[in-house]
Amino acid sequence: MEKYIAVIPGDGIGPDIIKEAVKTLDTVASIYGHTFRYNYLLAGGSSIDEYGIPLTEETLKEAKDSDSVLLGAVGGPKWDGMEGSKRPEKALLALRSGLGLYCNLRPALMYKALSSSSPLKSEVIGDGIDVMIVRELTGGIYFGEKKKAEDGSWASDLMKYSTAEIERISRKAFEAARKRRHKLTSVDKANVLETSRLWRKVVSKVAEDYPDVELSHLYVDNAAMQLVKNPGQFDVIVTENMFGDILSDEASMITGSIGMLSSASLGEGKGGMYEPIHGSAPDIAGKDIANPIATILSAASMLRYSFDLDTEAKAIEDAVEKVINGGVRTFDIAGKGEKYVGTEEMGKAIREAIK
Ligand code: NAD
Repeated sequence: MEKYIAVIPGDGIGPDIIKEAVKTLDTVASIYGHTFRYNYLLAGGSSIDEYGIPLTEETLKEAKDSDSVLLGAVGGPKWDGMEGSKRPEKALLALRSGLGLYCNLRPALMYKALSSSSPLKSEVIGDGIDVMIVRELTGGIYFGEKKKAEDGSWASDLMKYSTAEIERISRKAFEAARKRRHKLTSVDKANVLETSRLWRKVVSKVAEDYPDVELSHLYVDNAAMQLVKNPGQFDVIVTENMFGDILSDEASMITGSIGMLSSASLGEGKGGMYEPIHGSAPDIAGKDIANPIATILSAASMLRYSFDLDTEAKAIEDAVEKVINGGVRTFDIAGKGEKYVGTEEMGKAIREAIK
């Protein structure tokens, strides 16, 4: 298979972690007989330095013309003083909307060997945590009509969903469940919200096309409780924009390390944008100490969701697990007094494990 990947290293630790992810993709390509061609693009602070804005039309076009996008992280103190529309993070929003990415996949994965970094008790964690949150990204209250009184006495945000918006995100979630343990929990607030009642109706209807996936429904307040009470009960969770924003942060917190968690944003068709959930970590940039695992796992997700290369994706994920279980650590996941390796060394250990 031959694929064109837009690579956006970004700022801070972005270039360091992206380097390891690309080398990992190259290892997979050579073992499984694929060709990945990379088109390196600027976005965020590096684009501001070069072109004066966080994302140029040409960069967006090149990203659109690629089969998929792999991104490091953007931002840093150098650009903190810039006005709203010129801030580095604007590049992310422009990429997501420009590429029509309405579905955000946020896996919260914790390996048993790292359970001591979770704020949860070991009996709650059980065999580890492996939940995938599918968040609707372009609808709901964040995008509904916004109003406020001239005199400041009231304000309102409209929560609105169309059947089509719910149906397309549901399909992505059912597809994701099919690639995992075939269980889907739809989270809503159908006892109170009209949008949630529509959500529940549409998800249940879409379920008829996926008889091999077990669907259940949960109210969002209960879901927030269940995530910390018994995270092992969940496989895939699908929910609307705001509930997903909150639940995905809760789920990533319980896994312990921000340097381990990947994310994928998908739209119509096979393209997507894959990036770690963490930021550009300027405090550790250029020191060869950042954990590259979140970005390497993002590359694995790209293989799975954009290229349908499940075996190759699993080879990377298994290699990460093997390296973690074998005791290799970057500083952020090392226990007190435990030895740790740098960014490059961690990447190398993962590539060796793939081989
Ligand atoms: P951050 O995620 O960059 O860092 C938070 C903490 O986690 C820091 O102590 C950092 O050293 C650590 N950390 C993050 N990634 C790590 C890794 N891979 N390995 C080891 N430790 C890691 O969040 P922040 O400090 O709030 O933001 C820094 C900059 O990143 C800001 O400019 C912010 O706007 C930007 N940001 C970008 C994105 C993105 O590009 N998607 C997301 C969040 C923040």
